Amino acid sequence: MTVTETAVVPVEGEPEGRSAAKRGRPARERATGSEAARAAHEGILRRQSARESAARTYARALPIVPVRARGLTIEGADGSRYLDCLSGAGTLALGHNHPVVLEAIRKVLDSGAPLTVLDLATPVKDAFTTELFRTLPPGFADHARVQFCGPAGTDAVEAALKLVRVATGRSGILAFTGAYHGMTAGALEASGGATEVRVTRLPYPHDYRCPFGVGGERGAELAARWTESVLDDAKSGVPLPAGMILEPVQGEGGVNPAPDAWMRRMRQITQDRSIPLIADEVQTGVGRTGRFWAVEHSGVVPDVMVLSKAIGGSLPLAVVVYRDDLDVWQPGAHAGTFRGNQLAMAAGTATLAYVRENGLADRAAVLGGRMLAQLRRLAAEFPCIGDVRGRGLMIGIELADPEAAPVGGVGPRQAAPALAAAVQRECLRRGLIVELGGRQASVVRLLPPLTISDEQASAVLDRLADAVAAVARGPVER
Ligand code: PMP
Repeated sequence: MTVTETAVVPVEGEPEGRSAAKRGRPARERATGSEAARAAHEGILRRQSARESAARTYARALPIVPVRARGLTIEGADGSRYLDCLSGAGTLALGHNHPVVLEAIRKVLDSGAPLTVLDLATPVKDAFTTELFRTLPPGFADHARVQFCGPAGTDAVEAALKLVRVATGRSGILAFTGAYHGMTAGALEASGGATEVRVTRLPYPHDYRCPFGVGGERGAELAARWTESVLDDAKSGVPLPAGMILEPVQGEGGVNPAPDAWMRRMRQITQDRSIPLIADEVQTGVGRTGRFWAVEHSGVVPDVMVLSKAIGGSLPLAVVVYRDDLDVWQPGAHAGTFRGNQLAMAAGTATLAYVRENGLADRAAVLGGRMLAQLRRLAAEFPCIGDVRGRGLMIGIELADPEAAPVGGVGPRQAAPALAAAVQRECLRRGLIVELGGRQASVVRLLPPLTISDEQASAVLDRLADAVAAVARGPVER
């Protein structure tokens, strides 16, 4: 694919509304990239596919070679520029290289502080913990403990599962269909990707593809009742579990927001049975969904929160925060070499504070609502869009086969992963990076930084609309 031929060149910080986006000349005209730069770019991609694992993921659909980035914009080695709505899979609350993040990192570098310290105390870590606790949901922070984990979200999930198993003396875990919690063994079990499991998977409410075929409040109520009956039926084969883990909005599962009432039901069900509730806010945290933490929409106070991605301000950092009476595991129960990344803690402190001080969660709610409304208008125009959903700046557009009748004549049409992949490709050609998600990879996902301007949001939607129109016109490369 020659992305350079059609990618337009947005300039960070420059108003970039509909007209500017439409005006966008091919990157080739404006980019500084020379033939040599393009050859270098192609060479890097060629060597990557020759040398890196078959398990690589994003690199397959996004053949770009980022060399510079600021805010929403990424520049490739060939001079092409892109609007980045992948944001490191939802990591970049403030976009790339935000000045407050860079300043915080430089300050640590210039101070001569050690860069890695296992789990020793440092002023940088102390400041991070103070800021983190300041943002936690009311009623949680006062009795919370934090465990610094190895730096990935999946490690924090492992720690959380271990924590509740030790604290309850039980082993089973409840998790939900469509969940994604990571790739290490325990997290993979909870995500439904393992065969030998101690995890019972329960229906997650889903408006569009409701497992009970009804959707809405009724569908969520049936899902809650199923959970209740599994726990209360002595013959369900599910012993009292050690914990329940859930995402308040499933991200990788295709952007499925849980209804607030369902969240409250899960809280009640778990509380009544002394089952610790683990909220996996790895992706939904730090303002992404329109509240600082997504559990705040429903007012649910979980027993355990798993946090990563945005809390490290673009660098690797993960923690589990939990009610202090669960803190009965032994020293070394969950250890790891890389629990003391000082640059990540400094970048994370700066990010948390900036999001809080600048009301970026509210901004995500308002702008996200507007973008959803615009996307719903687009869906009315294009039958290949089956559903538009999201919360704040966590947005999903599900592609559905415009011709295939729904199963049984009612309900959603068949998911169309090939169309979603085509939209992703067409977006890239127009200088827009989007992620795919969902059980069948049929959901185009937008995770822009919370700092995105109105003009940039319009440019994103213009490019997406153009891409959908191109795919709808077909035929597309499948
Ligand atoms: N939980 C959720 C909700 C996630 O979205 C992810 C990553 N997409 C993870 C856990 C795992 O995080 P990591 O990839 O850093 O291990």
